[in-house]
Amino acid sequence: MNIILLGPPGAGKGTQSQRLVARYGMRQLSTGDMLRAAVKAQTPVGLQAKAVMDAGELVSDEIVSALISAELESMSDEMGAIFDGYPRTAEQAHALDAILDQHGRSLDHVIELDVNVDALVERITGRYSCANCGKGYHDVFEQPRQPGICDKCGSTEFKRRPDDNEATVRTRMAEYRAKTAPILPIYEKRGIVRRVDGMEDIDEVTAAIARIIV
Ligand code: ADP
Ligand code: AMP
Repeated sequence: MNIILLGPPGAGKGTQSQRLVARYGMRQLSTGDMLRAAVKAQTPVGLQAKAVMDAGELVSDEIVSALISAELESMSDEMGAIFDGYPRTAEQAHALDAILDQHGRSLDHVIELDVNVDALVERITGRYSCANCGKGYHDVFEQPRQPGICDKCGSTEFKRRPDDNEATVRTRMAEYRAKTAPILPIYEKRGIVRRVDGMEDIDEVTAAIARIIV
């Protein structure tokens, strides 16, 4: 199973990916997470990407496609893949076709999380995650069961992303509208796009996705 979760920043791609990983043992391939790890480790890619990410613009197609290719290389053929935040341009969509082909994989579904853009600033500015295991939370919409303690690993350390501020969010939305939304027709022509109402509660979105992939 190879699926793309598509939707603007804050649509719920990461949240739903984490649930699919826990439920079905699939692998989440998030270029955002890979880039943040590269920034933290100060690798050449990270050093190049940092300013672009802080501005909310897109990192080069070559860099992100190379990250995806390397990640797939490390996976067994049987393991399902969830592409989260990739592809984001037509060029990345074509690169992904070639990469999947090399690995004898093909796309099963492109799941579009349909959201009201007015809700996204609140989702993004309230987003945080566990500093130890990365489990995602929200100040209002998804709080740990015990305040201050991660449900998944018990850590008490949490972090917020430097690009989750209102000014950067606006640039990221504009990048989505200009460069990412236009890739949908590529997949519509293939008849593999499935729309899910991303404004429902997190559990209901998960249930809707499960109905598509199971
Ligand atoms: P993306 O990966 O698409 O940028 P996230 O999955 O990180 O978005 O979600 C952004 C924030 O919104 C997170 O803090 C998450 O807890 C919250 N969130 C995700 N899905 C929903 C939902 N359906 N309803 C309310 N809040 C949500
Ligand atoms: P995300 O975690 O998906 O919200 O991505 C955070 C930031 O990483 C984006 O604003 C971009 O700067 C960069 N990024 C992540 N994925 C991609 C991608 N597929 N193409 C280009 N830039 C990306």
